[in-house]
Amino acid sequence: MFENLSERLSGVFDRLTKQGALSDDDVATALREVRVALLEADVSLPVARDFVKAVQAKATGQAVTRSVTPGQQVVKIVHDELVAVLRGADDPGALKIDNAPAPILMVGLQGSGKTTTTAKLARRLKDKNGKRVLMASLDTNRPAAMEQLAILGRQIGVDTLPIVKGETAVQIARRAKTHASLGGYDVYMLDTAGRLHIDEVLMDEVQAVRDVANPRETLLVVDGLTGQDAVNVASEFDGKVGITGVVLTRMDGDGRGGAALSMRAITGKPIRFIGLGEKMDAIEPFEAERIAGRILGMGDIVALVEKAQETLEAEQAERMMKRFQKGQFNMNDLKMQLEQMLRMGGLESIMGMMPGMGKMSKQAADAGFDDSVLRRQIALINSMTKKERANPDLLQASRKKRIAAGAGLEVSELNRLLKMHRQMADAMKKMGKMGKKGMLKGAIA
Ligand code: GDP
Repeated sequence: MFENLSERLSGVFDRLTKQGALSDDDVATALREVRVALLEADVSLPVARDFVKAVQAKATGQAVTRSVTPGQQVVKIVHDELVAVLRGADDPGALKIDNAPAPILMVGLQGSGKTTTTAKLARRLKDKNGKRVLMASLDTNRPAAMEQLAILGRQIGVDTLPIVKGETAVQIARRAKTHASLGGYDVYMLDTAGRLHIDEVLMDEVQAVRDVANPRETLLVVDGLTGQDAVNVASEFDGKVGITGVVLTRMDGDGRGGAALSMRAITGKPIRFIGLGEKMDAIEPFEAERIAGRILGMGDIVALVEKAQETLEAEQAERMMKRFQKGQFNMNDLKMQLEQMLRMGGLESIMGMMPGMGKMSKQAADAGFDDSVLRRQIALINSMTKKERANPDLLQASRKKRIAAGAGLEVSELNRLLKMHRQMADAMKKMGKMGKKGMLKGAIA
């Protein structure tokens, strides 16, 4: 059992050569680890497989931020995808409780934490939403369960429907409805009977109760530690009764929460709350980010990668500024600028942002200078040697011919590029002399 996926991935990537972008092999290697990690976190096999496929498509070819390892970068991609899959309801903690009295049906297997969760949610509705709540236990087979709800009710100051011996679950549901209407309750919660396993009788009973109560919410309570089983339970209940969401309990335990991913992927139902202990306030609305982090067993890799990306961009801009102010502007710089222009969608907008380039951009547009020109210029620069790029003054006739031929273009086009470079270099130098206030920032940041 490992503790940290990010460490594991870093180990894998340390053995690989660092490259500018994530290669197919990098991603495949990383994703093998990710798949194992998901399985160890109790994610079901088909879900893990589909998930890895989706990530593979996203990760291949992505640029690697220099100050993090490719492993960390993959973790970030995996994390983001996890969040995307896990994210369900916009506001998972907001229960539909308009049109008083609003019925909420609680379903699930025995021992899942259903009674405890009923009381926790009742308390939340009372304290956070200022609602008057009535709880009723429908577990006619287990008097102890009914008594348990009554005790919890007294503990949290929420009323429970008085226990009448010999009633069926449907009769109790009807009485709860009447009692809630007459008593002016905003919400009534029906804690249905649980069984150890799913069986027909149980499902029939829950269906009958559902038909009587016509619930606004039907919440399935599942033990988050049960992994794959939880998914089967969710599919069964959703198929037979129809659920509006899931509450995962025992998320305070050692389990990694993989059940959350499987359940979301297979049933498509949102996870609404997670139970985090036995106490009445140990419940929280579901947060996709938190569970994603937990499934991966990673610390703050995501934050680290985001920060690194920001820092890198800022550092790059800063370095370029310094060089430009010293009047250094070589072909590599120009190439970076051209590529950035392409990325930022259009020459005119960029040149307009650069001091002294506004006029040039108009001339360029008038001369039919579009993005295909940018691409040709980049090809020309690619065709230069390292030395030539660093020092364009080296470019005499024979070299020019070679470069143009290398790019499959005319020397006249290379001459235009060189002229443009000179104009830009001059403009940069002037700006450098004008002051160090960073006039270029807007253009290159
Ligand atoms: P039910 O049979 O489904 O109604 O289950 P209960 O509500 O009686 O809960 C069974 C046991 O699980 C009780 O001891 C609860 O205190 C405990 N339990 C419920 N939810 C949680 C949770 O989120 N975390 C932990 N650690 N224990 C819980």
